[in-house]
Amino acid sequence: MPTIEALHVFLEKFAPSRLAESWDNVGLLVGDRQTEVRRLMTCLTVTPATVDEAIHERADLIVAHHPLPFAAVKRLTADTIVGQILLKLIVAGVAVYSPHTAFDSAAEGINQRLAEGLGLRDIVAMVPHQEGQGAGRWGKIEGGLTLGELAQRLMNFLGIANLQVVGNLEQKIQTVAVACGAAGEFLEVARRVGSDAMVLGEARFHTCLEAEAWGIGLLLPGHFASERFAVEELAGLLGRQFPEVQVWASRQERDPLEWIGSRLSAAEAGT
Ligand SMILES: [Zn+2]
Repeated sequence: MPTIEALHVFLEKFAPSRLAESWDNVGLLVGDRQTEVRRLMTCLTVTPATVDEAIHERADLIVAHHPLPFAAVKRLTADTIVGQILLKLIVAGVAVYSPHTAFDSAAEGINQRLAEGLGLRDIVAMVPHQEGQGAGRWGKIEGGLTLGELAQRLMNFLGIANLQVVGNLEQKIQTVAVACGAAGEFLEVARRVGSDAMVLGEARFHTCLEAEAWGIGLLLPGHFASERFAVEELAGLLGRQFPEVQVWASRQERDPLEWIGSRLSAAEAGT
């Protein structure tokens, strides 16, 4: 069985930690590198629900996109949610590895896969780091699409029924910038490189106003949807790379945000 260290060596090649943003906390965050890994769960975030699943399913390692712990920890008690989660993990002997922004920016990372999913051509990093790597992605759409058609393509790729839009759906789009998660700070870069539209996981109200003022169409599928598909793909990749390890993407993980409009009207129609 591979050790956590062997998984780390592979993940470091796949999503090199030098690509991570300076404020980030990536790599092995909980656990012992010498532990053998028989069962491995990927997920977007370490939450009470995903931890319970990992323990119930006897995972040795969680590869979570978002780091936990993220901030410095000075005491480990059950007084905080993070403390409760860490205590549970340690008692159960479950390790945590997080590639986070290194995974966003990797050559085959989340933003690259989003750009490919949109059918972009000539894809380059918005903030290049090295060959094929760097923060965000930018590319062209052959023949162009309207913002509405691009939105439909994104929803199909992510398998979602709703997303938020800023801009005119009839607007012609030839260049698109992509930055998963909460990446509103990349709007300015997207404008500088010349983008008709931008995909962000989520954006603040004032970022939306700024995009509108610049005439950049914004597509906001939600933080969860913009990244969750990638931890499912990562589970597949790790399973192929380490066939002796049982690998799965968390089955309990859910977007905490829910669109309730159609559900409420359906319930109303049913009464
Ligand atoms: Zn994220």
